[in-house]
Amino acid sequence: MADTIIVGAGLAGLTAAGMLCRAGQSVTVVEARPFVGGRTMTMTPGGLGEGAWFDMGATWHWEDQPRVRALAANLGLDVFPQYRDGRALTDEGPVDLPPPSPAELRFHGGAQSLCERLAQRLPPAGEVLLGTTVVAIEHVEAAAEVAVSVVGPDDGGADLRAAHVIVAVPPRLVLDNILFTPDLPHELEDVMRLTPTWMATALKCVAVYDSPFWRDAGLSGLAFSETGPLREVHDACNEDASVAALWGFVSPRHEFRDLSFDDRIEAVFAQLGRLFGPAAADPLRYFERDWSGDPFTNDEVPWPGRALLEYGHPAFAEPLFGGRLHWAGTETVGGDGSGHMEGAIASGQRAAQQALA
Ligand SMILES: Cc1cc2nc3c(=O)[nH]c(=O)nc-3n(C[C@H](O)[C@H](O)[C@H](O)COP(=O)(O)OP(=O)(O)OC[C@H]3O[C@@H](n4cnc5c(N)ncnc54)[C@H](O)[C@@H]3O)c2cc1C
Repeated sequence: MADTIIVGAGLAGLTAAGMLCRAGQSVTVVEARPFVGGRTMTMTPGGLGEGAWFDMGATWHWEDQPRVRALAANLGLDVFPQYRDGRALTDEGPVDLPPPSPAELRFHGGAQSLCERLAQRLPPAGEVLLGTTVVAIEHVEAAAEVAVSVVGPDDGGADLRAAHVIVAVPPRLVLDNILFTPDLPHELEDVMRLTPTWMATALKCVAVYDSPFWRDAGLSGLAFSETGPLREVHDACNEDASVAALWGFVSPRHEFRDLSFDDRIEAVFAQLGRLFGPAAADPLRYFERDWSGDPFTNDEVPWPGRALLEYGHPAFAEPLFGGRLHWAGTETVGGDGSGHMEGAIASGQRAAQQALA
């Protein structure tokens, strides 16, 4: 029995957990994956030295985003600007672009550090259950509680009880995977079905090299391409460039997404070579993450043939179950930061304030 159960240990859920614990509440965070972070996911592969980390999910925050900047400062996380010195490339050749405004910033050690540090800083009154999936939430009105049914790592089921529950999971996944008693309002179900999950189908690739040769050639590492398979490429070196890498998003076009792994690698290397020269076609290592195949981010339920909704539908700001059920997650807030880490933090703050009120 905790004061509040939080579903999802992404940035939204962990932000709410931290706020509630600081206000003296006990919190249980339930996370389906065996690690915290959600769509912030930083890979630290072996064999490339200590400074080798690559963001396979969120990469940047921006200097005009107050919440994420304050959180990073509070957690003692260093940030550095995205490398943009030099010319960008297109299929037609190099171009000069103005420096980005507002500037894009990266986290030293990767974006997942935000979530890892938030989880580490939870006091003993805040626990995180990893590898544990929430499958049902019931309003037990007579007891003034919510019952949250979970399936643990050993496939064992359990019912957790709390005064409040914050659901910090992408809305479409809530609808597909969590059974509510009583049923959610039909209008809210409709809103959830029509709210896309930001970046849910992204396929991100990283190519690692023994040096950032593009920088020496006066190139920023930024490239935009229509020919694919990568539609954009960025410098992914760590802060001191002791680990040199480029990352890119594979174009969503079927002709590229339907390629086999081997054919895709071949096509990606060939494209990098075309853009950045022969050295780019022969990376030391290659990694990719296809978010579309991850059931804790993407769902494969077909889209209704209706217009999709903007983020931050007002229905997500309304607690249900007599004020005991609250919504969080970057898709549940509007404004400039929605979809981004900034929005995830804003949504976690709103849900925590609601639970406290
Ligand atoms: C490839 C990619 C690139 C991105 N680039 C950027 C960027 O550069 N800048 C930026 O600001 N943002 C970026 N984003 C978006 C950013 O990652 C998200 O806005 C943010 O991480 C969302 O946090 P969240 O807590 O709302 O959701 P999530 O991170 O999705 O967290 C939800 C959590 O709930 C868990 N969960 C799901 N179902 C259940 C269940 N039934 N029971 C228990 N747990 C469950 C999931 O495992 C997950 O940990 C990117 C995302 C991706 C995928």
